[in-house]
Amino acid sequence: MSRNKVLIEKLPLTIIKDTYNSKQKEIEIGKYKVKTKDDRYLNFIKNGFICAKCGIKGEYVNLECNRNNKNHLNVYAIKDGKEILLTKDHIYPKSKGGLDSIKNYQVLCENCNENKADNSPINLVQALRSGQATKKSVEKAVRSGRPKALIGV
Ligand SMILES: [Zn+2]
Repeated sequence: MSRNKVLIEKLPLTIIKDTYNSKQKEIEIGKYKVKTKDDRYLNFIKNGFICAKCGIKGEYVNLECNRNNKNHLNVYAIKDGKEILLTKDHIYPKSKGGLDSIKNYQVLCENCNENKADNSPINLVQALRSGQATKKSVEKAVRSGRPKALIGV
């Protein structure tokens, strides 16, 4: 996985909550501007700094600049001396109509996220019941030419 440019290393985990809860749309960390309302931060606040699958725990935050020149905060765990990125995962896949909603987010480490792939078993009934998808969002996914994605529901 290609890495972003690291601007500031090893900030405390608390910076995620402080950033998201700021009343400003953007704050300065060091000399860098960071947008505060990021669903990834909300996901960590609600679900913890821990991979829902393997249980690896985030240890620190890096301020990074991505390919689009946007500054953002990334949470990392350490395993065997290696940095493991914690990601925002859609429990019910977006390609199958899963919503961009906190109800449909979980924290997964990059390894578990890769292993999940798009063929993991999904449960449409459960997703509708829990608000991870709506009838409308699923229909939209089908219309956009992804009926294959729904095989196995
Ligand atoms: Zn994991």
